[in-house]
Order: sequence, then C-alpha cells, then structure tokens
Amino acid sequence: MTARILDGRAMAARWRDWTKAQVEAFRARTGRVPGLATVLIGDHPASQTYVQAKQNACAAAGIRTFNHCLPAEVDQETVMELLETLARNPEVHGILVQLPLPPHLDEEEILSAIPLEKDVDGFHPLNLGRLGLKGRDPYFIPCTPLGILAMLQEAGIPIAGRRAVILGRSRIVGLPMALLLLRLDATVTICHSRTSDLAAVTRQADLLIAAAGRPGLVRGEMVRPGAVVIDVGISRVADPQALRGYRLVGDVVFEEVAAVAGAITPVPGGVGPMTVAMLLVNTLKAAQRQVEGFASPWLEPGPARPV
Ligand code: NAP
Repeated sequence: MTARILDGRAMAARWRDWTKAQVEAFRARTGRVPGLATVLIGDHPASQTYVQAKQNACAAAGIRTFNHCLPAEVDQETVMELLETLARNPEVHGILVQLPLPPHLDEEEILSAIPLEKDVDGFHPLNLGRLGLKGRDPYFIPCTPLGILAMLQEAGIPIAGRRAVILGRSRIVGLPMALLLLRLDATVTICHSRTSDLAAVTRQADLLIAAAGRPGLVRGEMVRPGAVVIDVGISRVADPQALRGYRLVGDVVFEEVAAVAGAITPVPGGVGPMTVAMLLVNTLKAAQRQVEGFASPWLEPGPARPV
C-alpha cells in the first residue's frame, strides 16, 4: 500500500472538540444554547442510526436536540405543520429532515419549507443555488461536501486548477460537492449512472470523489497514480462474521486503490465522521447568526481552521 490514509475519525474528533468549546463560549456570551431539531419519518434502519449518531454528537458538544419521529404513513400536511412550528421556535436554530423520505411525501416542498437560516443541511434550493453562483454565499454548505473540503484542507491537498471527478449527482453529496469544488477553482466533471466509459473519465482525476452508493465501483485500474481518492459511499453488505450480520463498505475497492492512489479515505472512519462533525459546526453557526447576528465566511483559503 502506498496511499496516505486520511483519518476522518481523528479529524472529526478535533472539529467536535472545537465546536464544544465554541458552544461553551456562545453560552457564556449569550446565555443561550444552540438547538437542532431532527425530523425522522418512518423506520428506515440506516436513517435511525444516522439520526441517533447526530443526536449523540450534539449532546456531547452541548447542543440541545429536539427530536421528532413521525410514522412512515404520515401525511404531507402534518409534516408541513411540524416544520412551521419548528421554524417559529426561537430555541431551534437548525432543522434537519432525514432523507430519504417515504415516496408519498413531496420532498421538494418539505425541504423548501425550512427557513434558509435554519437549513443546517444546506438542501434548500436557494442554499444550493447560491453555492453554485459566483459572488453569492449560501447560508450553509451541505455537511458531507463541507466535511470533505475540511479534510482536503487539513491534509494540505490543493484544489484550485486540479481536475476533480465526482461519481454521483445527488442533492446530498454529488451536486453540492461539484458546486463547491467549482467555486474553489477545480476543473470539475460529474459522472452518473448514464456516464459511458467511466474508467476513461476517472483516470483523468487528480481528485476522485466516489458518491454512487455502489460497492466495488472504483477499481485500482480506474485511478491515476498519485490521485487523491475520497470514498463517500456507505453500503451495508451481509457478513455472517460481523456482530450485526453486516459490514459497511464504500464505493472503492480499498486495497487495489490504496496501492495506486496518493491519498485515500477509509470506510468506515473517513467521510462519515466528518459529516456529523460538520452538522455540529453548521448548527453552531446557525445559532451564532440568529442570536448574535454574526456570520463567518465559509470558504477561506489556506489550511483548514475552524472559523
Ligand atoms: P443517491 O441519491 O442514490 O445518488 C447516487 C448517485 O450515484 C446518482 O447520481 C447516480 O446516478 C450515481 N450512480 C449510480 N450508479 C453509478 C455508476 N455505476 N457510475 C456512476 N454514477 C453512478 O445517493 P447519495 O445520497 O448521493 O449517496 C451516495 C452514497 O454516499 C451512498 O452510499 C450513501 O450511503 C453515501 N453517503 C455517505 C455519507 C457520508 O457521510 N459518508 C453521506 C451521505 C451519503 P443517477 O443520478 O444517474 O441515478
């Protein structure tokens, strides 16, 4: 193996510590506590795990959570009413609706009902649009792309002028990742399920970000020697040896790609912990902005430092 391992767990722990200290300072200044409302609809096991992990991380950082679990068959009107209540609640600074939603619900209407300043996931169409527009700043950048950016910056990996290839174009990862890297002057190519000759595209990448949710998609021969490979994918594959009967794998065949790449993120222990850490950072910033009228810039040049 030649690739340097980018340790998301260690990086995320530093961000969580930083957030905890900032939350404490915020409380000392304002007498207030940042608050995050989570809305979980249905009983999707992975979603339950993610929401629980986010709530635990908030509690450890001193962020208050307001947890709402709704049954899978809940109607659109009930969800919209809940969001209106949360939007008005001054103790709630951030609102997170865990995706995916049951298919009968109108995702667009639900995400658009979250006020921009409480949209800590950054999925509101206006936040996403602003991310893509030069000269405009979103209130929030979605947590996974933001976490990846923080990892790249901490590892000293340059972005401007580099060729970035992203596998996936979802609202959660692929699209905002592409917009963010474009904003930072990378030359960006987005691939998806209809891309032909994927390997010919991925081999051009200085920075390859795999967010397709397809285990085994990225093989060693698809990677340019020395490239930086970020594996966002998280899939459960059956494993009778594992305690829970499954294990988590990414999109990248780790051993093959680590032998070629310059740097790589593992799964688990790569992007996942950074996603949760960035939710804490976004919630803190939401509270600062709403209570203190303070907004720090998002995209500062140079090595990462908590802003
Ligand atoms: P998604 O909504 O299902 O999107 C998957 C994207 O991958 C789609 O754009 C799809 O193309 C594309 N795709 C599918 N097969 C492909 C292929 N063979 N070649 C190239 N592109 C392909 O999934 P998502 O929500 O973005 O999540 C992607 C993965 O990241 C999942 O494994 C998820 O669990 C994981 N994830 C991890 C984190 C984390 O913190 N680490 C956070 C969020 C998500 P089309 O648009 O053409 O369908």
